[in-house]
Amino acid sequence: MARYDISLIRGDGIGPEQTATAKKILETINDNSQTKFDIHEVESGDSALAKFGKALPESALDIIKKSQACLKGPVGETAADVIIVLRRMFDLYANVRPAKSYPNIPNISSNVDLVTVRENTEDVYLGWEFNTDENTVVALRVTSEHASRRIAEYAFKIAMMRNNKLRVVAVHKSNVLRKGDGLFSAVCRSVAKNYPKIQYSELYVDAASMNLIRNPEEFDVIVTTNLFGDILSDEAAQVVGGLGMGPAANIGDQFALFEPVHGAAFDIAGKNAANPSSILLSAKMMLEWLSDKYDDKNLMVEARRIEDSIVSMLRQDKKTKDIGGKLSTTEFAALVAKEMY
Ligand code: ATP
Repeated sequence: MARYDISLIRGDGIGPEQTATAKKILETINDNSQTKFDIHEVESGDSALAKFGKALPESALDIIKKSQACLKGPVGETAADVIIVLRRMFDLYANVRPAKSYPNIPNISSNVDLVTVRENTEDVYLGWEFNTDENTVVALRVTSEHASRRIAEYAFKIAMMRNNKLRVVAVHKSNVLRKGDGLFSAVCRSVAKNYPKIQYSELYVDAASMNLIRNPEEFDVIVTTNLFGDILSDEAAQVVGGLGMGPAANIGDQFALFEPVHGAAFDIAGKNAANPSSILLSAKMMLEWLSDKYDDKNLMVEARRIEDSIVSMLRQDKKTKDIGGKLSTTEFAALVAKEMY
């Protein structure tokens, strides 16, 4: 029997409602399979700042460090103080954001199955902005050979694992950012040579954002830099029906953290109206990652079960309000849990 320690960051806004549904699904697996999760709830974000004076208190960090993976609800105003710190601390260099068409959800195309692999450690996210005088600011955009190579390697590895269209497209703007994106694209090209089975191409970010609307089904794996990845993955989420269906993973060599693509959505917080699919599909990605890391095939079965149950509900047109249904957060999650076994 395999046991896994999972840290669960409740977050803010719709975070606590969403993480409660994820906890329910993991407990359903506990009750019905050989796999057991010990779930350790963690307070961080705006609520932790108000209570402890720190968005990411030491006590929270201790729990996260001891866990094998972390599932995180969206955080509000203090999002950067939580996620950017955790990404740096655990060197979570790959941000992986799938966008997939699901049944009965209004979308631009019903045949999309792509994943954005976004470099997660550099670019403008280092926050190096300086005033050169009172009215002018310079922001540094950092690109290194090391970070470009490991994100490119990761993207090709994912394309092989997906065994889908076997395509990787590197998205950049090397006609303007000649040095930085010139380096990024040259590294992607050199990594591509080691993967003869993969069809490799490149697109400028403007063309990529247009093609994501025009023919999104053409894409398989998109590898790109940090800021472009942030924007393109939100666009891709919208192409398949909105943020409520969007999971994400932050992957490092030793640790990984899983979270919805969206933010804390304060406008619907506390109303039992959030779509829990984004966090449930993040939990599914967590099980897949643990399965790969600990060579536990049963976890892959449980991961599939989560997604299949969501798809089954959608096929029956049982869905939350954001995607045209009537169900509340808890009603939808309860149906998914019931459908699993
Ligand atoms: P941030 O700047 O932190 O990304 P934001 O307020 O700009 O946050 P989000 O919170 O990501 O944007 O979401 C934008 C809108 O999408 C929300 O206001 C909400 O109406 C809707 N939304 C996001 N996530 C969900 C969800 N899981 N279920 C239903 N609606 C959602």
